[in-house]
Amino acid sequence: MEPEFFNSIAEKWQKIWEEKGVFRADPSNDRSNKKFITVPFPYTNSPMHIGHGRTYISADVYARYLRMKGYNVLFPFAFQFTGTPILSVADAIRKGDTELIESFSTIYNIPKEKIQEMKDPFKLAEYFKSEMEKTAKKLGLSIDWRRTFDTTDENFQRFIQWQFEKLRKGGYLVSGSDVVGFCPVDNFPVGMHDTKGDVEPEIEDMDVIFFDGESFLFPVATSRPETVFGAVGIAIADEEYVVVEETENSKHKSYVVSRKVFGKLSYQKSLKEVRSISPEELVKLKARNPLTGRDVKIVKGRMVNPSFGTGLVMLVPAHDPSHMLMAREGGIDEAIPVISTPDLPEIPGMGIDTEDPAELRDYIDSIYRAEYYKGTMRDNIIQMVPEFMRQKVKDYIAGRRVIDARKDVRDLLRVMDRYDRIYEISNGPIYCRCGAEIVVKKIEDQWFLAYDDPKWKNQTLHSLNLIKFVPPEVRKDFEKAIFNMKRRAVGRSRGIGVKLPWNGSQIIDSLSDSTIYTAFYTFSHIAKGKKLTDEALDYILLGMGSPEEIEKTNEIDVKDVIKMRNEFEYWYPVDSRHSGRDLVQNHLPFFIYNHLAIFGEEMLPKQIVLNGFIRVGGKKMSKSLRNIYPLEKAIREFGVDPIRVALSSSALIIQDTDFDPRNVEATGEQLKKVFGLINRILELQGNDIDKNEENSLADKWLSTLMRRRIAEANKKYSQMEFKDVFDLVIYKLYEDLKDYTELGESLNPRLLRKVASAWIRMICPAVPHMAEELWSKSFDGLASVQPFPTEDEFKEYEEAEFEVSYLNELIENIRNLESVISKEAEKIIIYVNDDKSLKDAVREAIDSIEQGKGLKDFLFEVKGDEKELEMLFRRIEQYDKKLRGLLAKYANASEMEILTKNVNYLMRKLNVSEISIFDSNDPMSPDIKGKKRSALPFSPAIVII
Ligand SMILES: [Zn+2]
Repeated sequence: MEPEFFNSIAEKWQKIWEEKGVFRADPSNDRSNKKFITVPFPYTNSPMHIGHGRTYISADVYARYLRMKGYNVLFPFAFQFTGTPILSVADAIRKGDTELIESFSTIYNIPKEKIQEMKDPFKLAEYFKSEMEKTAKKLGLSIDWRRTFDTTDENFQRFIQWQFEKLRKGGYLVSGSDVVGFCPVDNFPVGMHDTKGDVEPEIEDMDVIFFDGESFLFPVATSRPETVFGAVGIAIADEEYVVVEETENSKHKSYVVSRKVFGKLSYQKSLKEVRSISPEELVKLKARNPLTGRDVKIVKGRMVNPSFGTGLVMLVPAHDPSHMLMAREGGIDEAIPVISTPDLPEIPGMGIDTEDPAELRDYIDSIYRAEYYKGTMRDNIIQMVPEFMRQKVKDYIAGRRVIDARKDVRDLLRVMDRYDRIYEISNGPIYCRCGAEIVVKKIEDQWFLAYDDPKWKNQTLHSLNLIKFVPPEVRKDFEKAIFNMKRRAVGRSRGIGVKLPWNGSQIIDSLSDSTIYTAFYTFSHIAKGKKLTDEALDYILLGMGSPEEIEKTNEIDVKDVIKMRNEFEYWYPVDSRHSGRDLVQNHLPFFIYNHLAIFGEEMLPKQIVLNGFIRVGGKKMSKSLRNIYPLEKAIREFGVDPIRVALSSSALIIQDTDFDPRNVEATGEQLKKVFGLINRILELQGNDIDKNEENSLADKWLSTLMRRRIAEANKKYSQMEFKDVFDLVIYKLYEDLKDYTELGESLNPRLLRKVASAWIRMICPAVPHMAEELWSKSFDGLASVQPFPTEDEFKEYEEAEFEVSYLNELIENIRNLESVISKEAEKIIIYVNDDKSLKDAVREAIDSIEQGKGLKDFLFEVKGDEKELEMLFRRIEQYDKKLRGLLAKYANASEMEILTKNVNYLMRKLNVSEISIFDSNDPMSPDIKGKKRSALPFSPAIVII
């Protein structure tokens, strides 16, 4: 394969597009035909890779198609400098991260001295911005580059600050305290885009029960507080512990936790270390169950995770086999069941005898589930508690279902001042991009976007009805994400980004400054070099105030402000937002939430299109650099147009696509064949170049077929079923043209030229460079701005379509027969049955089938040989609907005539030296292999020799 073939063409046409400003879009008088298409702007922390390519190219194919359909299409592009993704890469280089530096120089071929400059996050962002822009241009994206910007642009910053003032005044931005995922090194809250591997930290709370002790308490963390009645011991890890003092609202509490937990827990509570304590010292102590008052032993347990919970586990051997193991090893041989559950043994903790961790885990999970949903608290717990507690335990806990009793156990512990709650990262450990493990931190005085606000949440959920989702089933993912959305901390203490207008020490995080930024595209090019004031933004984006007032401020030319307002009013809202499906968890819901808050329902995106991921070697591409395939490299290796097809085609847009170099090469080969064929057509000369009409069967068939292909291509492009559309315009049409040359005796250059014109325009959205090159050989103007073909460009000849369909059906049947008998035909004998009354019966049969009637009705209405009629009916049933429709129309056609006329086509297609055609009703016809009698109308009998 020669990628240079594609790339030299691409370079030529990209230059011409740029010179002519072909993809610049300006408002027109007619707003009804505008289409505003956007993709998420990329973080400029690495070069563009083929994962980016999927979304961008799919959106571009769609944008190009719509442009050719006559829409005024705006497709802009910008760059995200904000946040930790860029900062962490710069930090890593500064710290001399060899793996990263190595991959930058080997995978991306970045010069060593450039990499050194990237210690400065701005230099890094600038470098990749210019690389990404080059790559986007190399891909042939039909972008209006006048409107590009990055998030450090001064006017963009003013726009974000304007937005945050609006959100605060509207009550959408609230301050307060909350627990968040937090990086202890960077000292700021972290979300998905701040973590290695892009994991959103999920926070769960855990119950803590304090067991009493001589001089301090023993807090155990548990997810099943109701089992405390059966706790007969406490297990600790064989590691260092700390006695701490917690101060809250001037109350003090002294307790012991593991050293590892102490570090983490300090982010949630104000803790002071009193002294360290060894496990040996701890096991000599006694603890007391806060509800039963029993003394329990403290033992070392090898399954205790010293980093999880408090580092102390209450042992309830009766209800947990791992507790049973640890208790026995510690010399505790008591098991007190406190829950009874149908289908579980009396003491579920003894229900399994294994030390295999996975097996044990499964079994424990099944106990937890069964006891929670089906279990009941036993009555024996009443006698276990001290006298004063009994009434309460009897009334609220004993005999009740676990699912209901759990809350009352907590209440009871709370009354005794022996209860607390701590937070854990449930999907941890998660690491910050800086390398530190994420902890849960309670933060005070933070600003949050109130995505949990019931009114805002409810509005957002309802507004989903106003948006078209492609594919439609992703709507439920949106509903789920929005329903579960918590409030989001927006402040970061460092990094590139926009400062909160009222607190200069806080930088707005990257997912929070990119929620309505698509509005900025509509006027960014006019704003360049000018100063956007709050008054100007009010007017441009909300129509508030008046141009006269803005003029008085003397800061910006009022004519520019009016122009920007016009652009915004013309282009907004977004007509189609294209994105990878991972952003359903954050960016896309934020996009909807914030549009509602700032603009209201009418400015919501009309459509959201989600695409799957690109996989490399069967694995998802991730932002970590290991399996990343740079786009620039892919273009260099395979050529632009093959890459465009490869990256945007999967059967459904939501499906993942595997980037398989062999497939890309095969696509490239096929594209070259198409290029060659169209090229040859365009060079065709002939005496009959002026021939106007389609005379031959072949011409008529091809003309009709083009109508069908154009209709299908239109349907598939508009539904973004790109794999189907590429199959159609790159593979099927090529085969069609081969059929045409085999069908006809002489080619019709005029018709073929028309076909070429339509064909080039049909491939143009997918492979625009190749399309331009071909178009320029024979036609005027640029292919990219030609109208997409319509059916009307070709005449319809149904009879020809019928004849060829009939022939092709026959060819297929013969081929099937050949494969059944495993023999390639040398000679073929065909019997046709042109019997008039049977042909009438064909029509009747089609009527019956179309009306949903069965064989019985048909036999009742039509007279004749019942067996023959039944067979006829069965065969016609097997035809596809399209062919049946044609058959109904042309049932009187003489098959003998069609076959005789086209016997050469059949011979060529079937690769045989002789075909004999007989009339099955002619007594003079020979009966070869007894097949003569089995011919039926439109179902000839075939003999292969
Ligand atoms: Zn960090």
